Amino acid sequence: MGKKLRYQRGTGISKVDFKQEEHDISRNRDIIHYKDVVYQCGKCGTCRTVFQDVNWARICPSGEFGKFEPYYLGGKNLLTWAITSGKIKWTNNLARIFYHCSVCLACTQQCQIPEIHAYAGEWLIAMREEAVKLGYGPMPEHVKYTESIFNQDNPYMEKRSERLAWLPSDLDLTSDSKLAYFVGCTSSYREQNIAIATVELLNYLNEDFQILNNESCCGSPVFMTGQIDKAREIAEINIRKFKDAGIEKIITSCAGCYRTLKEVYPKKLDLKHGIEIVHLPEFLLEKIKTGELKLTNKLDMKLTYHDPCHIGRHMGMYQQPRELIQSVPGVELVEMPRNRHNAWCCGSGGGVRSAFKEMSQFAARERIEEAKNTTADAIISCCPFCLNQFKTNINSKEIKALDISELIKKAL
Ligand code: SF4
Ligand code: SF4
Repeated sequence: MGKKLRYQRGTGISKVDFKQEEHDISRNRDIIHYKDVVYQCGKCGTCRTVFQDVNWARICPSGEFGKFEPYYLGGKNLLTWAITSGKIKWTNNLARIFYHCSVCLACTQQCQIPEIHAYAGEWLIAMREEAVKLGYGPMPEHVKYTESIFNQDNPYMEKRSERLAWLPSDLDLTSDSKLAYFVGCTSSYREQNIAIATVELLNYLNEDFQILNNESCCGSPVFMTGQIDKAREIAEINIRKFKDAGIEKIITSCAGCYRTLKEVYPKKLDLKHGIEIVHLPEFLLEKIKTGELKLTNKLDMKLTYHDPCHIGRHMGMYQQPRELIQSVPGVELVEMPRNRHNAWCCGSGGGVRSAFKEMSQFAARERIEEAKNTTADAIISCCPFCLNQFKTNINSKEIKALDISELIKKAL
């Protein structure tokens, strides 16, 4: 199971100090592998609330929506143990419980049992993989978007030929630069403002970069719903495209794409591509530190930052987006009570938004209310999926939602 985890209590920041790079987080373990690990779950319910902080605020969108033990991690652990021990059999309802989860990992952060803290995210996916193998998963909506990915390179049922419709007409796509901007499906079709702002920022910085004219979905929605073989197929095709184009470094503006290219391909699917993957906030922050990017436009805004699960808990990137936001003149950054590893999920990931709209909206509304309570002018994120989720669920003018790329563009 990898190195022993450091086990900390009461630091006020992270109780079980999980540093991803120090642990073996590779998967490819059959669900049976986790049988004895899930048995360690004491059904204490600690994973329902923020451990020790924020007045033990609730943390699990699935459990708070389902209001029934199987929807919380403790219940899912018991079901996993019962399945792996042959005590119960798969049913459609059992599969639906496991898909009623955004795999946000907020529960794992609260659990004080090191193996559960570090690995529960693995068996939450492994159970989905098992459901797929046995024909109980994925959900019909996931089947539909997966077909769209294979037919049109995106999960939105949009035409492949319109993927680059947002591109400014004067952008030269003929570069054979080793640096690529991987736009991703949501920025290509739903939040094109992010794609445009990112390209404008890269142009402003005089970066020589390319955008693949045959770019396709990274495969995150397929992997996260347990369709591992299909996710591997997508990953192999993408890696081939990157290699054919001579790409050595990729900038992403989507949290899901970032995590998929950087962690899922090499560590979960064992496809080591050797390409450097950088998320836009870390790229821009570095440019500010070297003096290449100067933000001079004072914005006078009070902002709150929402940690996307795929950047935060999945990848441990909490600080860089905050530093970048704070480098904008005139900006005041105010934190929501549940932040960083304790952030409440926006409810769009893990296939929840497509298959379980009610749960997805429930999670989004709770986060929007939390953001409004900070009295911020806008909620900032660095994931088009989170942004689209907020914009869809914000009522009229209660609070704005912006991507970090749009914010930095405004500050030039
Ligand atoms: S997963 Fe951890 S926190 Fe949750 S019930 Fe089990 S032991 Fe308790
Ligand atoms: S991963 Fe998120 S939604 Fe799923 S059980 Fe844990 S806290 Fe709840």
